[in-house]
Amino acid sequence: MKKILFVTSEVHPLIKTGGLADVSYSLPKALAALGQEVKLILPNYRALKLTRNVQLRSVLKIGSYTVQLLETTLPDSNMTVWLVDCPEYFGMAGNPYVNQNGVAHANNAERFALFCRAAIEVAMNRAQLDWKADIVHCNDWQTGLVPALLSLEYQCPMTVFTIHNMAYQGLFSGLTAAKLQLPSQFLTPEGLEFHGMVSFIKGGIAYADKVTTVSPSYAQDIQTAELGYGLEGLLVYRNEDLKGIINGVDDDWNPENDPLIVQNYNQYSLHLKTQNKTALQERLNLPVDEKVLMLGLISRLVEQKGIDMILDCMSELMALPIQIVLLGSGDKSFEQRLIQFAATYPQKMALTLGYNEELAHLIEAGADIFLMPSRFEPCGLNQMYSQCYGTLPIVRNTGGLADTVVDTLPETIENQTATGFVFNEANAGALLETIKRAMLLYNFPESWRQVQVNGMNRDFSWRHSAAQYLDLYSCIE
Ligand code: ADP
Repeated sequence: MKKILFVTSEVHPLIKTGGLADVSYSLPKALAALGQEVKLILPNYRALKLTRNVQLRSVLKIGSYTVQLLETTLPDSNMTVWLVDCPEYFGMAGNPYVNQNGVAHANNAERFALFCRAAIEVAMNRAQLDWKADIVHCNDWQTGLVPALLSLEYQCPMTVFTIHNMAYQGLFSGLTAAKLQLPSQFLTPEGLEFHGMVSFIKGGIAYADKVTTVSPSYAQDIQTAELGYGLEGLLVYRNEDLKGIINGVDDDWNPENDPLIVQNYNQYSLHLKTQNKTALQERLNLPVDEKVLMLGLISRLVEQKGIDMILDCMSELMALPIQIVLLGSGDKSFEQRLIQFAATYPQKMALTLGYNEELAHLIEAGADIFLMPSRFEPCGLNQMYSQCYGTLPIVRNTGGLADTVVDTLPETIENQTATGFVFNEANAGALLETIKRAMLLYNFPESWRQVQVNGMNRDFSWRHSAAQYLDLYSCIE
């Protein structure tokens, strides 16, 4: 049994901006189910949705700051969560990284440096918790200073650093770096320096005992100039210690007992799925039609997710006999263009801007096709949820999408491995062609059903992924 400190900047359902929150919820639970002792640590943001009791456990001095360490548990489990409380840094409005106007908090470097230092005090058993970590599992740039600073400690725990998205690196000016009072040996190109700036993610990549990312393909992708963001050399250098482990799907995403959908179903009662489509059409004021092919999308509306590709073929899409249901928020320019299309085609397109967990479940259950044309995708969750819900994903051939969706081709229909549609080129034309390819299959209900069942038969459970992390922890000497 290992004592694992899971260091993260977000965890569902307390606070979530993306897939990291889902992983931070599911992986620790799955590791605990495999007999490990896992504790989570995250900042005590004002926006946290706390439902369980919160207790003061200790008070720490970090630089000139007095930090309270609070303890609570995750809803629906007994997983301990330690909260690093420092109102000056985490008490502001907005989400963990940006203010209400979507602008990064000006003191993000100081905020997450303080968080990292607090996590180190906990990991090293210097926080009056009577607990010392064997493994410190860090996630994304916000936690990148932990492996770096821990490497200076005597008898430090082993460290794992997981990259959920290389596009976010925690890069700050040299001036900011000075305020962080980092040991001078880190301020070199071999350390945290990146072209005169300080890079938090480098702290994780350069100093952790093991580096992981969230799919085998993305582990390869980030070793190339295209997706390595200037750190591909370092990642190639760490190649021996770099592993891709695909994320799992949490039990919450199961159409058989999902309380957030209108009608539960499984692969043997797929005909019931349609009731969710009807409910979705009624709710979103679309014409009720069981037969029409419905495309769904749930996404941050950012370039990474290929939203521009969808927009660029929207006029052609609107000429097809389909409905499209979109849920998301993000770049204002994408939002504006989508609002215009939705206003022009109210019979065909329903747009919901914002974040809505319940609607997300209903879209997964109600849609026939799920669109995920990402330019790059470390792992991606919705393409896996879609397969669990018998909703065929259309994805680009990249990262975790490539690892989890099997394209529908004559041979993959024949050997019953097809689970969706995959395209290569990152452009609107290729996406449109693939949607048309899906429409063709939709005319053959038996084949369509077989592809649905193939996807629903896949095992995306977290148990598999957690076992791989456990193997990794065991091989760190
Ligand atoms: P990323 O972390 O890059 O945003 P992922 O596919 O890994 O992408 O995870 C996104 C998660 O956030 C999924 O669980 C998805 O359902 C959810 N999500 C994204 N946007 C919304 C939204 N507007 N409403 C509800 N859930 C959303």
